[in-house]
Amino acid sequence: MGEGQASLLALFGGTFDPIHYGHLKPVAALAQQIALRHVIIMPNNVPPHRPQPQASSEQRKMMVSLAIARNPLFQLDCRELQRSAPSFTADTLEEIRQEIGYRRPLAFIIGQDSLLTLPTWNHYSRINALCHLLVCRRPGYPVQMKTPADQAWLDARLTRNIDDLHRLPGGKIFLADTPLYDISATTIRERLEHGQSCADLLPPAVMHYIIAQGLYR
Ligand code: ATP
Repeated sequence: MGEGQASLLALFGGTFDPIHYGHLKPVAALAQQIALRHVIIMPNNVPPHRPQPQASSEQRKMMVSLAIARNPLFQLDCRELQRSAPSFTADTLEEIRQEIGYRRPLAFIIGQDSLLTLPTWNHYSRINALCHLLVCRRPGYPVQMKTPADQAWLDARLTRNIDDLHRLPGGKIFLADTPLYDISATTIRERLEHGQSCADLLPPAVMHYIIAQGLYR
């Protein structure tokens, strides 16, 4: 595995409304499995035509900061949040490529649900050309893609070889054998709205912040 500049750079994008153990624990297990030293969490700006997060950008950023405060694996990158308009993942990856060059191994982490919808994302082939995709398992989502064409697209890019991820700049898809956590931000928001406990679903510091801010009531 390469060191320093050449090491595999892994990004994890999402809305994080709020960040929860279903984000943190599978990604920590993935990092262990494939020897990632750091994972950069990148909260996104949600396009106006999609349902907007309940928490503000500042609150989502704060919740991520609190969640990772004592965990040196994770770092926070707010470049997408700081933009006035939402950006496509492909454009953000292109920007990062401009910064780090096109040779350093780069990966984008997603859950199984996101893999299934990936063919509907803008420029999804360009995304995978710019980086590897590292996929965490998620309960309730099939392992098969929705169409034979999408499955063929996936099959052509799958690798089980961890060295590929550290050696090649991008282009591979790795299905990680991560533990299943049946947690979603939607469930957390609904439970909080109904005054139910979320104690085991997200870090205590995030829960305290949610209460202090009066979020998701
Ligand atoms: P919501 O319920 O609001 O749609 P979410 O819980 O799915 O949110 P996101 O912020 O949309 O969270 O997800 C960011 C990334 O984390 C996505 O790639 C998603 O697939 C992945 N992810 C979220 N929850 C899990 C989970 N429980 N297990 C594995 N991956 C997950």
